[in-house]
Amino acid sequence: MRYRRIVAKVGTSLLTAGSDRLDLEAMSRLVGQVVRLRAQGCQVAVVSSGAQAAGRHRLRGHLHEGNTLSRQAIASVGQSHLMQSWDELFDWHDTVVAQVLLTRRDLSDRLGYLNARNTLRDLLESGAVPIVNENDAVALDQVLATRIGENDSLSAHVANLVDADLLVMLTDVDGLYDADPRSNPGATLIRRVERIDRQLEAVAGGTSGLGTGGMATKLRAARIAVQAGVDVVITNGDAPDALVAVASGEERGTFFPAGADRLESRKRWILGNISRAGHIVVDAGAAAALRAQGRSLLPAGVAAVHGAFDRGETVEIRDPAGHNVAAGTTNYASDELERIRGLRSDRIAETLGYAYGEEVIHRDNMVLL
Ligand code: GLU
Repeated sequence: MRYRRIVAKVGTSLLTAGSDRLDLEAMSRLVGQVVRLRAQGCQVAVVSSGAQAAGRHRLRGHLHEGNTLSRQAIASVGQSHLMQSWDELFDWHDTVVAQVLLTRRDLSDRLGYLNARNTLRDLLESGAVPIVNENDAVALDQVLATRIGENDSLSAHVANLVDADLLVMLTDVDGLYDADPRSNPGATLIRRVERIDRQLEAVAGGTSGLGTGGMATKLRAARIAVQAGVDVVITNGDAPDALVAVASGEERGTFFPAGADRLESRKRWILGNISRAGHIVVDAGAAAALRAQGRSLLPAGVAAVHGAFDRGETVEIRDPAGHNVAAGTTNYASDELERIRGLRSDRIAETLGYAYGEEVIHRDNMVLL
């Protein structure tokens, strides 16, 4: 496979096969593909819509006359049905799934971001398939900035969170056209997009069908993802092998090559967010391991903690002589580090009563200086 870590976004129109309820056959075709990809060594996270549609269908005939339910309530009903369907279908292949519900707040808040990132990576590395959706039950439109609103953007954020190398947005059209193909029979498919500019945005139409996304939101999402160093493909998910084909590098739909090197963009982010609130001093052995072998920082290597910082802050790591070794996002706050420094990682939980992982700073969240 050309790609290793893939985020597959499946929209409502695909999951319902154009009907008003979840289409288990369509879902099972997707499941089969994810299972094939995993068998070939890929890690796959699925961003799944369909909660609203499933909820609406489920509630039919169950509401007292005249009663209406909020969008949030409908999604809560549908989300459990949606997950149950995914769970059963994956279970046929002996594959474990995990439900991950996110809101905009989780992604913009430093700790929420770190927690979501750690959980998703844990799941992917352990072989489970995270099924992600927006937490519609608590994401209210009225409260500004708490709702993402559509899963195209969510999928781009998830791709960024897990450092995916590919984001595939599976939809019910073949890709991005130079005009609306529904009203313009001469419209041609754009195969490759190097730059997402205003002109291209003008080409993308509005929303369609049951879902909330459309070409415009897909383009916005593609822009977020390519900037984070992720290749993006928008393609027709009706083709039974669409996901596997795209993952193996076959040309399908519209391709957006990553605009930035992933490591570079993460590095820039870390370097731009170094906190001056404090820093970590490591012993000589740990400094050497970080510098020469690109290891993660473990509590055993922490010699001293200066200043006060929170879990999720980006701090400098210095050697005993005071020279900078690296900067990275810490899984432990300064007061926690004070208690676990010098200890083996298996003693974190008994010392603190909880653990956020065996690394103080994971090498993926670290840049050498
Ligand atoms: N979270 C919504 C749902 O599951 C989907 C949003 C979208 O269609 O993009 O129904």
